[in-house]
Amino acid sequence: MVFDSIGNRGHEQVSYFTDTETGLRAIVAIHDTTLGPSLGGTRILDYDSEADALEDVLRLSHAMTYKAAAADLPLGGGKAVILGDPDEVRTEATLEAYGRAVDRLGGRYITSVDINSSAAEMDVVARDTDHVVGASDGLENPSGVTAHGVFCGIRACVDHVYGVDDLEGLDVVVQGLGKVGQSLAEELLEAGAAVTVSDVDREATEAFAAEHGANAIEPDAVYEQPCDVFAPCAVGGILNDETIPTLECEIVAGAANNVLAERRHAEALRERGILYAPDYVINAGGLVTVAKDHFGGTYEEAYAEAEAIEGRLRGMIERADEEGTTVLEAAEAYAKERIAGADGEAQSVPRP
Ligand code: NAD
Repeated sequence: MVFDSIGNRGHEQVSYFTDTETGLRAIVAIHDTTLGPSLGGTRILDYDSEADALEDVLRLSHAMTYKAAAADLPLGGGKAVILGDPDEVRTEATLEAYGRAVDRLGGRYITSVDINSSAAEMDVVARDTDHVVGASDGLENPSGVTAHGVFCGIRACVDHVYGVDDLEGLDVVVQGLGKVGQSLAEELLEAGAAVTVSDVDREATEAFAAEHGANAIEPDAVYEQPCDVFAPCAVGGILNDETIPTLECEIVAGAANNVLAERRHAEALRERGILYAPDYVINAGGLVTVAKDHFGGTYEEAYAEAEAIEGRLRGMIERADEEGTTVLEAAEAYAKERIAGADGEAQSVPRP
């Protein structure tokens, strides 16, 4: 069963690690290292079963390959899970054992933060391996770069739909006023867009709206709010069979990961005539920052590089139009071609 699961998505290597002293149980999945070492966060979760943990790490590492390839980065896709209750697992001894495990992969996998793992955990992991990014001595939180990349991606979408190269006077709804949403809303307002914001934290929404001259609406009202651009920057799965028929926008372009409940919803949006910018293409600013952290560079350089999302997304939108597909399919084709044509340009990756 394990070989079938691994083979289905074409993973290169899946490693199970245990440590008798600490009880560590971790799985590292390396999906593809054609373009460079695999990179992806470490998720710490009390999974219902080992099969669930394996499925999660396989799915997430596969997605990382496409995300890195579609962002033109010299990185492959990987991911790790540590199984167990986060409060029990996040001991120094367990995380050190995990660091030794990552180190044994010799640089084929670079780890980072994810659900239930933050800079504090990476600091401990980094005691035993150099193959870590996102520790507290690294670059600052990537949210500002992510937001700027989304802003540039919105420009590409607006140019395609309306044939204008600025956002002056456009109506944009931002769902979620967290680290990315706030930064994006501010940049949109500076560019002259009319911004409507919404967060489950109603007080924070009202305060932001009052301070910045934005319009505030209730969380449930975002889908039906007439606008040019809907920018989801909160949680995944919000574009589904219930919400898509109610959308009153021309463009969906935001930072939220896994925003489509299912892959088929990209086609549902296209059928409704709504341009959907694939989440992993438009929110790649975060990964660009992490890559800078790993290969060496500054936050400012990452910020500038995130602007390439505009041109890259524009190319994918045009390709989708020419080929009669969704932009999601065009993005996948772009990533696959990059991997297939990588001979010679690939970073050297240690072999097991
Ligand atoms: P965050 O946790 O700082 O903010 C999320 C915000 O969404 C919170 O303010 C929360 O109250 C709000 N929220 C939750 N459910 C909501 C709902 N139903 N309606 C309205 N608001 C809701 O997270 P973030 O770092 O700003 O990231 C936002 C999204 O972008 C996430 O999906 C994340 O995975 C994705 N993303 C973030 C980065 C990054 O650099 N931070 C990079 C890539 C992708």
